[in-house]
Amino acid sequence: MTAVSDAVRRGGVPPVVVARGAMWTFAIVNVVIVEALFLGAAPGKNEVLTVAKFFGVHAALLLFFQLLLVARLPWLDRRIGMDRLTVWHRWIGFSLLWTVLTHAVLVVLGYARLDDASMGKTFLALSGVPASLLGMLAAAVIAVIAAVSARPLRRRLRYEVWHGLHLLLYAALGLSFVHQLLETKTFTSSPFATAYWWILWLFAFGALLAGRVAVPLWRNAHHRFRVAAVVPESDDVVSVYVTGRHLGELPARAGQFCVWRFPGHQHWWSANPFSLSAAPGGEGLRLTAKAAGSASAGLRNLPVGSRAFVEGPYGAFTSLHRTRPGALLIAGGVGITPVRAMLEERETGDLVVLYRVRSEEDAVLLDEVRELVERRGGQLHLLTGRTDEHAAPPFAPDSLRRLVPDVTERDVYVCGPPAMTAAVLAGLRELRVPARQVHAERFGLA
Ligand SMILES: Cc1cc2nc3c(=O)[nH]c(=O)nc-3n(C[C@H](O)[C@H](O)[C@H](O)COP(=O)(O)OP(=O)(O)OC[C@H]3O[C@@H](n4cnc5c(N)ncnc54)[C@H](O)[C@@H]3O)c2cc1C
Repeated sequence: MTAVSDAVRRGGVPPVVVARGAMWTFAIVNVVIVEALFLGAAPGKNEVLTVAKFFGVHAALLLFFQLLLVARLPWLDRRIGMDRLTVWHRWIGFSLLWTVLTHAVLVVLGYARLDDASMGKTFLALSGVPASLLGMLAAAVIAVIAAVSARPLRRRLRYEVWHGLHLLLYAALGLSFVHQLLETKTFTSSPFATAYWWILWLFAFGALLAGRVAVPLWRNAHHRFRVAAVVPESDDVVSVYVTGRHLGELPARAGQFCVWRFPGHQHWWSANPFSLSAAPGGEGLRLTAKAAGSASAGLRNLPVGSRAFVEGPYGAFTSLHRTRPGALLIAGGVGITPVRAMLEERETGDLVVLYRVRSEEDAVLLDEVRELVERRGGQLHLLTGRTDEHAAPPFAPDSLRRLVPDVTERDVYVCGPPAMTAAVLAGLRELRVPARQVHAERFGLA
């Protein structure tokens, strides 16, 4: 038996529940501390400024959570998954925007009332004060990031442009920190307040530096990843084999993905997430990519021996989250990659795989999947065809139940295009498969 089945046997609290519980506890404790600090501090010069202060300290707290969610802390990532953390990041981002804007408007209004001046005049006067100016700049940067992340604009922007603008969050972080530091009252209202805010900011900077810079740099220096082979799987799909030193020490699990850069061959800013398409082991890593744009299409031309810079492994689409002995693995198109890796890791057991493709020729890694399923005594259903209004949808509840009568008794892992994944998840909900048994990987983080 493997560690996987040990986890099933133990029947303890699911890791995702532990992580969510930890996150909520952490959030509530911090909110309580911030409320206590706010109530214990001297009020503003008038009521409007007091309310402005309330929004200001909460904006700082939201920014702190925002950074934690993108710090790629392995403990959180493996339990909650980067896709879910990114969704939370998005919602906190928009809350942060409204909190910051409310804070800014109330500060101007509060001082305008105090000085009996117009809002315009007060705004200009405040922009001459360093602490206020930095706050205004931070608010402007946050507004730009929110604007480009709103769906209508996001859809029109290339990923790299959107991502480049999104990195301005770091500038907002620096500006907000100095703004809060210069606006000394928050920091100095009591020795406890000073200690609390310093710890909070240092923790945010430390987490970010560790997760986004130190760990990736250290791992790449330690493992020295290189392209070992490039194998075309079809006209538009290619597998890249990557080797390196001490690969057995890499904390990777089947089902996870890495963010890959091939510096000598592609632009240095080009970094793309691809799942591991084989279970990670001491010998090497493999990704299998379908050509979607220039970066993925260009992988076919990678020179053997070229350096690879690998961030990760990331993701919660792993056997860590298994709750039942039986599994149903559902893949659509190139979404087979993490499923293929998970098949390799599984012990013999109760296993059904549904693989949705337009035609058998489009089924990436089909021979490997067939062989792995056969060796484990499982069943593979290749579901071919296009989904249109004339054909019965393959993932409608009735179809799912017909293919897998005991679907509610299994863990279900789903990875495929967004529309297919959404259809499967809706079908599973209708069949009342408990949410804790359903695990999905979305090939989209933005
Ligand atoms: C967790 C995860 C695992 C994935 N695993 C695989 C896999 O195993 N095999 C596979 O073929 N594809 C996989 N993808 C999809 C793959 O990342 C994109 O197809 C690829 O990055 C496209 O890049 P491009 O520059 O060639 O195309 P582009 O035309 O530049 O991009 C096409 C679309 O891909 C997305 N994308 C591009 N770059 C990134 C990025 N750095 N981060 C997030 N999204 C990006 C954007 O939504 C973009 O609109 C995965 C995606 C994610 C998020």
